[in-house]
Amino acid sequence: MRGLTEPALLPTRMTYDASPAFAAAQDAADSLAPFRQEFHIPPGPDGQPTAYFCGNSLGLLPKAARAAVEAEFKSWETQAVEGHFHGESPWMYYQDTLADATARVVGAKPIEVVVMNTLTVNLHLLLISFYQPTATRYKVLMEGGAFPSDQYALESQARLHGLDPAEAIVEMTPRPGEHTLRTEDIEAKIAELGDSLATVIFGGINYYTGQVFDMAAITKAGHAVGATVGFDLAHAAGNVVLSLHDWDVDFACWCTYKYLNSGPGGTSGVFINERFAHRPDLLRLAGWWGYDPKERFQMKPGFRPSPGAAGWQLSCGQVLPMAVHRANLDIFDRAGGVAALRQKSEKLTGYLEYLIQQLGLPKSKFEIITPADPGQRGCQLSLLVNERGRELFDFLAARGIIADWREPNVIRLAPVPLYNSFEDVRRAGAALAEFYSA
Ligand SMILES: *Cc1c(COP(=O)(O)O)cnc(C)c1O
Repeated sequence: MRGLTEPALLPTRMTYDASPAFAAAQDAADSLAPFRQEFHIPPGPDGQPTAYFCGNSLGLLPKAARAAVEAEFKSWETQAVEGHFHGESPWMYYQDTLADATARVVGAKPIEVVVMNTLTVNLHLLLISFYQPTATRYKVLMEGGAFPSDQYALESQARLHGLDPAEAIVEMTPRPGEHTLRTEDIEAKIAELGDSLATVIFGGINYYTGQVFDMAAITKAGHAVGATVGFDLAHAAGNVVLSLHDWDVDFACWCTYKYLNSGPGGTSGVFINERFAHRPDLLRLAGWWGYDPKERFQMKPGFRPSPGAAGWQLSCGQVLPMAVHRANLDIFDRAGGVAALRQKSEKLTGYLEYLIQQLGLPKSKFEIITPADPGQRGCQLSLLVNERGRELFDFLAARGIIADWREPNVIRLAPVPLYNSFEDVRRAGAALAEFYSA
């Protein structure tokens, strides 16, 4: 086992060491460190703040969220139905106030995004428009081991079109002995499916391994065979820099309660490429909130969609969850956007990786299955723990290190640049070292 204080020189020219002084110096030099004060850090078993590494599952509560919701309660309290048209942010147009900041998070134009519903609901709505199988072009390509909700959504979409899911859905799995997919293999599979391929739907980041997929390359390959291409960005939005417009992605959706910190049951974001912004003919499930706003309240028969992603809305806006989300989008803007957060994120995750490597554990016992290349991962590291995994997870929890456990044997740790510190990561490394030295 190598010494815990051995320095390592990383490609980012970041030299790490395991001492508390190192972590303290990094935190002192971190221009994003003040943002930690804007979040509630839950207390651990000893009453002290936890080292919270579950922002990939549920982001922490920003202090600003309470006032944001309170403002809408006030409007409801004092204006009731008039709140739709009056007050600081009339509810009728509330969703429109989120479009610019949402577009910045995912690299889109404001007309390409809308905030509505929840993630799996939106995935279905998008598939209605972008997965329209024919007798010969009916296959869907997705990553094997996708998040279960996405698997169920695709299965039921295939059935909706009278197809056998086993026939229609093609799942890609890594090569034997590997944990993650190679872009060249995805491209080759797309080319092989060719004319039979209707739609490619991948996660932007796989929730289990933490692998970032090459969305630009996958989109290009899908378009080359005439397929539509979409991404579930649940683990990517707010985590890695996205350029959905420039990558020419057709459609995407994401939840806002993971890296976007917008609370349990929080609302979801949708991206629909500008190429479809003025296509009222494109099949969709319609509702009154997607109606052209100029005439929405004339309540005429015959659906006329708003231009852009807004034309996919069904119901009146979910103002209370949107208020929480808007407070978070404001934090992202003040922090300098995802690109600024990402710089710190690479260092934080690199530090965690360094501390784990210092343990010198054999692969048979303990392996990081997330790609080592920072360009192919976000915040999260997934640890495949072949022995005593559950015991390790409980050991960490007892020390206020909040990770998450994925059956059968994976522990995920996601240091989040907005509220995690280098000291949090050092604590996790020290607890791991304590476990393996016992
Ligand atoms: C978190 C997550 C979901 C959850 O979907 P909801 O509809 O918000 O419950 C779905 N898909 C992926 C890939 C996820 O990571």
